[in-house]
Amino acid sequence: MLSARFAPWHVPLFIAKYAYLTARQRPILVHFEVTQRCNARCGFCDFWRTDPAARHSEVDSFAAAARYFNPLMITFTGGEPTLRRDLEDLVRGVAAAVRVRYITIITHGGTLTPARAWSLWEAGVNQFNVSLDYLDGRHDRARGIPGLTARIFGTVEAMRARGIDSIRFNTVIRDDNLDQLLPIVHRAAELGCGVNFSLYTDSKNGNRGPLVAPERLPALEDAVAALLAYKRRRRGVITSSDHYLRAIPRYARGELEGPCRSGVRTIHLDPTGHVKRCPDFPTDFHWTAFRRYEPIACDACFYACRGEAQAPLQWSRVRDVIA
Ligand code: SF4
Ligand code: SF4
Repeated sequence: MLSARFAPWHVPLFIAKYAYLTARQRPILVHFEVTQRCNARCGFCDFWRTDPAARHSEVDSFAAAARYFNPLMITFTGGEPTLRRDLEDLVRGVAAAVRVRYITIITHGGTLTPARAWSLWEAGVNQFNVSLDYLDGRHDRARGIPGLTARIFGTVEAMRARGIDSIRFNTVIRDDNLDQLLPIVHRAAELGCGVNFSLYTDSKNGNRGPLVAPERLPALEDAVAALLAYKRRRRGVITSSDHYLRAIPRYARGELEGPCRSGVRTIHLDPTGHVKRCPDFPTDFHWTAFRRYEPIACDACFYACRGEAQAPLQWSRVRDVIA
């Protein structure tokens, strides 16, 4: 589900750049963690505890880093990236530095107004990813933002009406939302949006509460099977790869083997411009001293940023993109 801003002739350009970066063993996706401040209160992440004074050490441009890495895909994330009043400038700088690129922003949606979304869209954002784990009040409570769910839907409807055509919900699969996965997909389809799934793991702050309990593994398998069945009927709404979805129950059962390739195909820059292989690892060096990462024997998480990085380019994936 690519934005209509892209024409069919962009596809060979994207494929050629993907092949070039793969051959050169360069990151395909760079995440710019523009702030670690956040005004949510999630129980499974400690970014909201970041000292507000940390804003003074946040760099005011990622353009030089973007030019150096020249990735195919760029994500602005946080913390909550919309807390940066200069986010449009950051986006514009990066968009001007990289010619063939797809720019995404990940937000909890609580501070994203339709006007802000439009100004970010005009600055160069190609896709908005909005976190959404439940359709009911549980989402507000889990994120610690009263009225969040209603606000998200109000903003998304206004964005769609304005012509922003690439919006996805990022849904983390947890023990207590297995009943919500398909309803979220149906709601997304009604709104003309996509859904990107991730499996919850406790790698961020050790909170085991949302982990799928061992006795709930059959329910997890059923929920994932239902998502795959939906994809067989209709592509273009669920944007997770078939490969990743099939791997989720295997990871939960402890059956997945092999190193993690986070850091090889994807890297993260923190707000000061230092590089880490994934969101949950410490930084290793400033981007100006970048050294290539090797796969690592770590099994601590199975978020999409890990699982999708391992997904091979299969025909089902091509069909997802075409859809
Ligand atoms: S998970 Fe996201 S929304 Fe929640 S505290 Fe962390 S950065 Fe903020
Ligand atoms: S499995 Fe990979 S992405 Fe997950 S915490 Fe370990 S290194 Fe990071």
